Amino acid sequence: MVRTLAFRLTLWYAIIFTLSACLAFLIFYLMITSFFREQTDSDLLKQVGVFTAVLNADGIEAVESLAEREAQASGERKIFFRLLYPTGISFSSSNMSFWRDIGVTRASIDNIMDGTAYVYETISIPQKKQRVRIIYSAIGSGIILQLGYSMENITGFFQAFQKVFIPGMLALIIMSAGFGWFMAKRALVGVGAVTRTARNISAGRLEERVPVPGKGDEIDQLANTFNAMLDRIEQLVAGIKEIGDNVAHDLKSPITAMRGAAEVALTTGKSRADLERMGAETIEACDHLLNMINTMLTISKTEAGVEEWQTRELDIDEIVQDACELLDALAAERSIKLRCEATANTHILGDISMIQRMVANLIDNAIKYTPTGGRIHVATRLGADDRVVITVQDTGIGIPRDDLPHIFDRFYRCDPSRSTTGAGLGLSLVKAVAEAHKGRVEVNSTVEQGSLFKVTLPTK
Ligand code: ADP
Repeated sequence: MVRTLAFRLTLWYAIIFTLSACLAFLIFYLMITSFFREQTDSDLLKQVGVFTAVLNADGIEAVESLAEREAQASGERKIFFRLLYPTGISFSSSNMSFWRDIGVTRASIDNIMDGTAYVYETISIPQKKQRVRIIYSAIGSGIILQLGYSMENITGFFQAFQKVFIPGMLALIIMSAGFGWFMAKRALVGVGAVTRTARNISAGRLEERVPVPGKGDEIDQLANTFNAMLDRIEQLVAGIKEIGDNVAHDLKSPITAMRGAAEVALTTGKSRADLERMGAETIEACDHLLNMINTMLTISKTEAGVEEWQTRELDIDEIVQDACELLDALAAERSIKLRCEATANTHILGDISMIQRMVANLIDNAIKYTPTGGRIHVATRLGADDRVVITVQDTGIGIPRDDLPHIFDRFYRCDPSRSTTGAGLGLSLVKAVAEAHKGRVEVNSTVEQGSLFKVTLPTK
């Protein structure tokens, strides 16, 4: 729980919210304090002005009685006056019984005597838990006024403020945590759905998909990416299953043939000729199996790049010509005209036996899938970007459009009735070899008209 994203988000939300609220309170507090202080200071200053005017107009007695009256009118606990000599000795004051503890600050008097117009100070009275703001100012020659205002109102305000601050903050923290939790949970609903789906998939339900909320947000992206990944995995699993099925199917025929031959030899044939026939059939079936297994291994190794190759400079024209010569007899057997036109006149870097197998597979297919009397044209030329292009074109049965994207897949065979031999591995090997040599293979085909296979390889 503590490690969940929702918890951490909530925590962050609550911390940021609390800090922001504290900051807002602090600013509010400072603003109110400075407002009160300025207000008090300007009131004090105004009073000083009144006293100065009265002293100038009516003399010191008038000032003394004004002080008396002012203190009584505002309340003797709210305001006090002292008239002082420059020595700091008081010669007149309002009723000071409440303000007994407040003396005269020598430094302030000295400041005034040095010519400062007025000096403010704030004094705390410990026993009374309140503060007082005091102004000193010379109101006439040799007469200094000490005037104090109780800051009781402000103190009261701050005590009330403190009382609401702590419970208020607590309520805010709880609220922000609750809100944060709610928001985090809401935002993470989609993640929960992905997790649930992933869990179901681990339990074997590969067809499940994460619901996409459709808000176009990050959760949508996550769900879409996850679903796309699942599509791909499902496709791969289906592919692997198909390969498995195909392998099983292709193993079945030769093994059944071997078993059949052995059974016949055991039950009916007793002569040496029968046993020899069984041996020959078994060898043939085994060869077929071994061939298939070896090709599969070669394709896998080639694709994974772990096949140990002997890479060297190869004359591609020579390889293509040799392959044509080798397979010419097979073509002739079916009255197919095989024409070779190797004019690339260049070299590639590669493994001779792999390149030979690649070319032979393409020509072999062309022969296999071209009816009697057809034509095959094999050619090499130098293409764009200094690449060698090997083409094998036939006038055969062609490949249906729907099959074209799959013919390079392992074990893929178009309608099996079209040919009886082959395991559907030939073109996979061609593709694996071409790609391992940093090349590619393409096909163009029209049913009943023929096919054109084109391999492009980089020159050395
Ligand atoms: P196979 O062992 O069946 O020949 P390949 O991998 O060589 O397997 O070819 C896959 C499928 O592509 C074949 O089953 C065949 O139907 C089709 N194919 C390959 N080459 C040709 C071609 N030249 N003409 C028509 N169809 C072809």
